[in-house]
Amino acid sequence: MATQPYHRVFNFSAGPSTLPVEVLEQIRDEMLNWNGSGMSVLEMSHRGKVYEGIHAETQATLREIMEIPDNYKVLFIQGGATLQNVMVPMNLIYGGDADYIVTGTWGAKTAKEATTVGRINRIYDDKANGYRSVPNFDELDLTPRAAYVHFVTNETIQGVEFKTDPVCSNILVGDVSSNVLSRPIDVSKYGLLYGGAQKNQGGSGVATVIIRDDLLARTPEGLSPMLDYREYANNDSMPNTPPTFAIYVCGLVYKWVKGMGGTTAMQARNEAKAKLIYDAVDNSNGFYKGHADLNCRSLMNITFNLGSEDLTNAFAKEATTHGLDGLKGHRSVGGIRASVYNAFPPEGCQVLADFMADFAKRNG
Ligand code: PMP
Repeated sequence: MATQPYHRVFNFSAGPSTLPVEVLEQIRDEMLNWNGSGMSVLEMSHRGKVYEGIHAETQATLREIMEIPDNYKVLFIQGGATLQNVMVPMNLIYGGDADYIVTGTWGAKTAKEATTVGRINRIYDDKANGYRSVPNFDELDLTPRAAYVHFVTNETIQGVEFKTDPVCSNILVGDVSSNVLSRPIDVSKYGLLYGGAQKNQGGSGVATVIIRDDLLARTPEGLSPMLDYREYANNDSMPNTPPTFAIYVCGLVYKWVKGMGGTTAMQARNEAKAKLIYDAVDNSNGFYKGHADLNCRSLMNITFNLGSEDLTNAFAKEATTHGLDGLKGHRSVGGIRASVYNAFPPEGCQVLADFMADFAKRNG
């Protein structure tokens, strides 16, 4: 295993997942006394000036690294990406219906939960094909009257990713939980973007929602306050006590992304990392079979299969002896999944690629 500080493993977990070591060190150093305040961020009043500064800076840094236009609000909301499955339709469906594109497990779950709120049209569903592909937006039969079109930009379980921001005549809503900040996203192409933090943004406990102002203005009256985007927008994401520590950690990760050169640099780093592993799949003479179609292979969650369940189990088990942790695929699909989010180190991808070649030689 490559030498790493603190004897850390290469953590391929799909989320919560690896954080930058520098961020963890900073959290450690600031734990008892944040910046001379004499207290931990965990202990601060969310109404105090010190926390307000952290909160504002976190938001400003996200705006900067994602180049979020001024006519969008950034909201921090608890309940994970899953709460957005119902908040989105509650706030945006306006008694009508919405289109959903289903390219994997998360999109299917989202569409199902949205039916508790409004009428949902599944205009694309790749389930019968095992969720391997993404549609071309110009081939989709969009419903003209639909309030919006929802899709998942990267399906974390199947490892299927849209490579570009789609051009769409209707309002686009994107679940960017597992690939936000991994490449530049043109926010202006979307009405709303949301993502749970625990992959590319920080730890669990908060989801970020980026919403265009005109959609906020159309939110129906009479929603429960904690489910109403306007409550968050009008109260700087503090309609009640916000997840202060989770937001603080996001702020540190956003600064880390900025320091690494921003999302363009992240994309180049992620492409190089993913290539190491996909090359190991493609050069294995069929020992490893990639799951996703070539044009939508995820840079974040690399999924592949071996010939049998026994071989898959042996692979995952033996990998741990090389410091490669968390490689088993999601329990619902099996196989192997290597989640290599922004903070995952390139050396870990190389160690995995070398292990894959060696394992195939010994077991092929
Ligand atoms: N959407 C996607 C794409 C995800 O990967 C996940 C979690 N893995 C979720 C939604 C659900 O997120 P949460 O656990 O934050 O509710």
